Amino acid sequence: MPLPPRWRWKLQRIQNSIEAFKGDVREFMKTAAVKQKICPACRALVGSNETRCPFCNEFISPLDRIGVRRVTSGFLPDFTTTHALVAINFLLFGICLVAMMQSGNPIEALLGGFPGGLLVRMGANYGPAILFYHQYWRLLTGAFLHANLMHLLFNMWVLADVGQSVEEMYGSTRFITLYVWTALCGSLASYFWRYPYNNMVGASGAVFGLFGVMIAYGFNHKTAMAQQIKSMFIRWAIFGLIFGLMPGVDNSAHIGGLAGGFVFGLVVSDTPSLTTEAISFWKVLSYASWMAIAGGLVLVTLGWAVAR
Ligand SMILES: [Zn+2]
Repeated sequence: MPLPPRWRWKLQRIQNSIEAFKGDVREFMKTAAVKQKICPACRALVGSNETRCPFCNEFISPLDRIGVRRVTSGFLPDFTTTHALVAINFLLFGICLVAMMQSGNPIEALLGGFPGGLLVRMGANYGPAILFYHQYWRLLTGAFLHANLMHLLFNMWVLADVGQSVEEMYGSTRFITLYVWTALCGSLASYFWRYPYNNMVGASGAVFGLFGVMIAYGFNHKTAMAQQIKSMFIRWAIFGLIFGLMPGVDNSAHIGGLAGGFVFGLVVSDTPSLTTEAISFWKVLSYASWMAIAGGLVLVTLGWAVAR
């Protein structure tokens, strides 16, 4: 028996409102659930299931749901540029220890410090070698060496912590460029401060560069969060500079790195690169940065071979 028209009309209205409600729920789920993530290299928004960035072709870990980690190798998920930098510092420290085992007491060096001569051979930022032998790579390689265990652990602790934040905020291509740039700023400041007899090692110039970029972030963004970041890193920088007054610590490298990082942070945007030109620009700079690091280490190795 067919329903009377009045009832049919009522039923239709109820069905319509159920459909409308289901549509609303679907829309809500679409906006509330995370559907996109950020490419860790160029910071563009990409689909949450993408494993390769459609803009810059960077590999994105499928484990990464939000998109902040850079994956440099398919075998090591969540291995970031920060991790790679920390690994290089530890590796070079290990090589210094092995060299010490052949010529002296490694335990003594571990606690007290490597002899200056060994650090110079390992690529320290040594003024006379730069001035008279034009070994400019020392300005970069010196930033990956450390004088003793405390020095290494302290710098690496801060680098692993703050580096990860800066890498997430700026993307890995801008991060490695920043790192090399501030390492050079710190080394140049040290070189000119003690001209020409400086012999500097340590990542702290670049680490202060990270503080500088975080302070600049607070000048570029007027949000409450950015202001908190800024004041926190102003405190870090002040404590670091006071710590740098200790004998044997090179505060000029800290000041150089801090200034370099601040300038970088003021000039460079942390928002995604969306044009192909901007993406390529940072890609080229990041490759150049890695090549500078690798090239410096190759030249140091060649120096060892010649000295032997
Ligand atoms: Zn990308």
